[in-house]
Amino acid sequence: MQINFAGTNLSIMNEYDVKKIRADFPVLEQKVYNKPLIYLDNAATTQKPIQVIEVVNRYHSKLNSNIHRGVHFLSDQTTNAYENARETVCKFINASKKEEIIFTSGSTGSINLLAFSFGEQFIRKNDEILITEMEHHANIVPWQMLCERKNAKLKVIPFHDDGVLDIERYKKLFTDKTKIVSLIYISNTLGSINPIKEMIRIAHDRNVPVMIDAAQSVQHIKIDVHQLDCDFLVFSGHKIYGPTGIGVFYGKEKWLDKLPPYQGGGDMVDIVTFEKTTYNELPFKFEAGTTNYIGAIGMAAALEYISGIGLKKITAYETELLEYATKTIDDLGGVTIYGRSPHKASILSFLINGVHMLDSGMIFDKMGVAVRIGTHCAQPVMQHFHIDGTLRASISLYNTKEEIDYLCKAIEQVKTMFA
Ligand code: PLP
Repeated sequence: MQINFAGTNLSIMNEYDVKKIRADFPVLEQKVYNKPLIYLDNAATTQKPIQVIEVVNRYHSKLNSNIHRGVHFLSDQTTNAYENARETVCKFINASKKEEIIFTSGSTGSINLLAFSFGEQFIRKNDEILITEMEHHANIVPWQMLCERKNAKLKVIPFHDDGVLDIERYKKLFTDKTKIVSLIYISNTLGSINPIKEMIRIAHDRNVPVMIDAAQSVQHIKIDVHQLDCDFLVFSGHKIYGPTGIGVFYGKEKWLDKLPPYQGGGDMVDIVTFEKTTYNELPFKFEAGTTNYIGAIGMAAALEYISGIGLKKITAYETELLEYATKTIDDLGGVTIYGRSPHKASILSFLINGVHMLDSGMIFDKMGVAVRIGTHCAQPVMQHFHIDGTLRASISLYNTKEEIDYLCKAIEQVKTMFA
C-alpha cells in the first residue's frame, strides 16, 4: 500500500523500523496461551517502552522524595525533574508557558476539574453546554453533573452514520446561553478525526471557549494548542506510552487565572489562616496534595520517546496500517465496520455479522489477539447504531502488517466456527 507522505509517494513501511521499536516494549515479547501476543487494545491503554520503565524505576529506587517541600538533595532532584516534565509537556503541545500545564490523574480528572471550576465561575441557570454525540463518558458525565447542580442544559452535536460530525447542526445549536463547547478530537470508538480547528473558530466567532479531549489524539497526531487555538485540552499519560494515574490539563493562562481551584489541600495555598486562605499561583493552584510526580516524570520520558521517533512518521505508519486493515477486513466480507470517516485514526470498531461480540472476543483471546469488546465508554455511540457494543482493534506505533493479517485470520476462524 502506498500513501502520500511528506510530498513523496513512498510507503512509510520502508523507512519505519518497527522491529527496532517493538524491541523497546518488553510486554510484546510474551506469549499468551502459547501464542504470540497480538496487542490491539491500545485505545484502552498503551504498552510502555523500556525508556519509560527505566525512568520510573530509577525514581522509585534512587531518587524518590516529595516535591516542592524539601531543601534536601533528593527533594531537589525530584522537584527539578517534575518541573522539567512540565516543560516537556509544554513544548510537546506547543503551549505558551509551563504555567499553563497542570498535572492531573488523567483525562477524566482533567475534565472533572474543568467542569467543576468553570461551572462554579461561569455557569448559571439555563446556560448551555455543547458536546458531541460521540463523546467518551468522561466528557459527558462531568458536564451532566454540572448541569444538574446548576440547572443548566447539555446540548448534543449529532454525527452522521459514517462517523462524521454534522457541522451545520453544530452551528445551529449555539444560542446566547452557550457558555462552553467540549469536544472529542479523535473518537475512541469510531476513529473519526473531528474538524476541531474549524469547530473552535466557529465557537470563538460566538465568543464561546472550547475544551478539547485529546485522550485519543496526542499519541496519533501532532497537537499544537497554539495553532488549534483551543482554550483547554486534556490527555492521559497511560494512553501515550507513559504511566497510569497521570494526565494533563492545559488551559490558556487568561482562563486559568479566572477559574477557582478545584480541590483544596497542601501545595495549592499561599497563606492559610482559620479565617481565610489565599491560593498559590499557577500552575500549583490546581495541584492540591501530593501529585503523581514520578508519573509526570515517566510521562515526560514517554513524550520524549515519541518525539524521538517523530509524530509525522507515526501518523503515516499508523494510517497505512489502518488502510491496510480496513481493506483486508472489507475484502473478507461478513464484517460491519462502524466509523467510515474519511479522516480517521487507527481505531477500528466492527462486528462479525451474526456473531455476538463476546463470542468473537473469546475466540480472539484464545488465539492471542487482544481487542476490546463492549461500549468503549461511549454508550450514546452504540445507541446511535442500535447495537450493544462492538469489537475494537486499536492500532499503535508498534503494531505490524503481520499482526493485522493474524487479526483477519481470527475473524475467519470466528466465521468458520459460527457458519
Ligand atoms: N476521553 C477519551 C476519548 C477516551 O478514550 C478516554 C479513555 O478511554 C478518556 C477520555 C478517559 O481517559 P482516562 O480513563 O485515562 O481518564
